[in-house]
Amino acid sequence: MDFSVSEKMQTITKMIDEFVQKEVIPLEPAVLTRGFKALLPELEKKRRMVKQMELWAPNHPVEYGGMGLNLTEHALVSECLGRSILGHYVFGCQAPDAGNIEILHMFGTPEQKEKWLPPLVEGKIRSCFSMTEVEMPGSNPVMMDTTAVKDGSDYVINGQKWYTSSSDGARFAIVMAVTNPEAHPYQRASMIIVSTDTPGFNQVRNIPVMGESGEDYFGHGEILYQNCRVPQSNLLGPEGSAFAIAQERLGPGRIHHCMRWIGICNRCFDLMCSRALTRPIAPGKTLSQKEIVQAWIAECAADILAARLMVLYAADRIDKVGAKEARTQISMIKYVVANTMMKVIDRALQVHGGLGMTDDTIIAFLYRHERASRIYDGADEVHKLSVARQILKKYAGKSVKREA
Ligand SMILES: Cc1cc2nc3c(=O)[nH]c(=O)nc-3n(C[C@H](O)[C@H](O)[C@H](O)COP(=O)(O)OP(=O)(O)OC[C@H]3O[C@@H](n4cnc5c(N)ncnc54)[C@H](O)[C@@H]3O)c2cc1C
Repeated sequence: MDFSVSEKMQTITKMIDEFVQKEVIPLEPAVLTRGFKALLPELEKKRRMVKQMELWAPNHPVEYGGMGLNLTEHALVSECLGRSILGHYVFGCQAPDAGNIEILHMFGTPEQKEKWLPPLVEGKIRSCFSMTEVEMPGSNPVMMDTTAVKDGSDYVINGQKWYTSSSDGARFAIVMAVTNPEAHPYQRASMIIVSTDTPGFNQVRNIPVMGESGEDYFGHGEILYQNCRVPQSNLLGPEGSAFAIAQERLGPGRIHHCMRWIGICNRCFDLMCSRALTRPIAPGKTLSQKEIVQAWIAECAADILAARLMVLYAADRIDKVGAKEARTQISMIKYVVANTMMKVIDRALQVHGGLGMTDDTIIAFLYRHERASRIYDGADEVHKLSVARQILKKYAGKSVKREA
């Protein structure tokens, strides 16, 4: 494969890098101390600037006001934006809206697209994705308790979900619910669009995660669906297709996540190196002169490069052979990059000593919140099992010759 970056993408990523450094990263301390909501007017200003620079919604369709970048191109953008915890939001390509836009675009009816896509891509409204349940294993979502039962021309939804990220302030949710309990396990559930002002859509709380309840876009909601009645025309895609659509949503989404994580690695790596070079540790000596710190720097640099190339390879495979054929590579990057990121964040924190534990740098926030990367979108173990299964399939039935 060709790793060269086109001139167009070099220009775009340079502009984004500069903007993130100059306009976005300086907002982070205020978000950490005052919360996300307090920063909304300031964030809105930055979003307007991004629109004026014609860099808004890089991965979304041109017809709805996005830039229409392909997967590999957006992977490079996602890396630049990942340097800041606010990057994707300021550029209008944040999860979970990005995935919801993708599936609405692919599976929505003309009416659904007309109603939801323009304001969502424009950033006028937000959305959320409601699959995981409190009492059932998210790792095996065919075990799902939430039901959507037909009644007249409506569905009536009942169930308890949590980790519906960014539900606080969202205008609608895409909910996964069982519509046909008798069907094959992978065809029992459907996706249904639920406007959050529908009676019976109850946001119970923002779940406290690693000591922070978060708010607005930075929250993770627990939602109780209680006789929540929506028209059957809110069905997204064919009935029973929720798992098939979820796969479509997750495959390319993992490339975006993983490149965002590479951006986080780059940021922490820069902080680690700068700190090592400037922190005196003995008269006339800095941390950077200690061999153990040099070894961490060398290891992290190699780990980040390896992880980055793996993601770009997976993106290239998806572009060339499709997400289904590339599923082993997609699973591999999920656990490799998440673990690389956790290692780099941890090393950066260690080099900062007590300062690393404070919120005076971004490292502690990343340490707390990015731990989730090894759990959401498929836990490490689930992906490793899937990779091993694919690999072993190739060996099954073949007699392996002993090498001399
Ligand atoms: C920050 C964050 C944001 C999230 N956002 C969303 C969202 O927007 N929408 C949404 O619907 N969900 C969201 N989730 C939920 C997420 O998808 C689930 O947490 C995830 O699927 C795991 O499900 P679970 O928590 O029920 O863990 P379980 O399924 O109970 O698994 C627990 C642990 O068991 C292990 N395990 C699981 N399966 C196997 C196996 N087959 N073999 C060996 N070990 C195994 C893994 O270590 C796993 O961590 C989010 C989660 C987090 C932490």
